[in-house]
Amino acid sequence: MSATGLPQAIVDHQASGVLELRWPDGSASRLPHGLLRARCRCAGCQQRHRTEGGHPEVAPAIRLAAIQPISDQGLNLVFSDGHGRGIYPWAYLHELGHPAATTA
Ligand SMILES: [Zn+2]
Repeated sequence: MSATGLPQAIVDHQASGVLELRWPDGSASRLPHGLLRARCRCAGCQQRHRTEGGHPEVAPAIRLAAIQPISDQGLNLVFSDGHGRGIYPWAYLHELGHPAATTA
């Protein structure tokens, strides 16, 4: 397990389309659903990244349809467009919420 640890709370803000993760270090990740969809790392999406280059556009209307924790690995996220093959490891979710360029 990385130093990131597991989030102590997972709050899905459906109205604003934001998934909030609260980490043991006291920080929080506020991840727009559309961003999570765009950064899906399943085989299908990675293939598309390679052929089209870069990240697909974030669709603001996309919403999370289901959140399924996978023991200590991370989250399986299902989206309103029916896509639900992506596994998001905890460290990856933490990284998405803490861009290296951001200074607190
Ligand atoms: Zn995917």
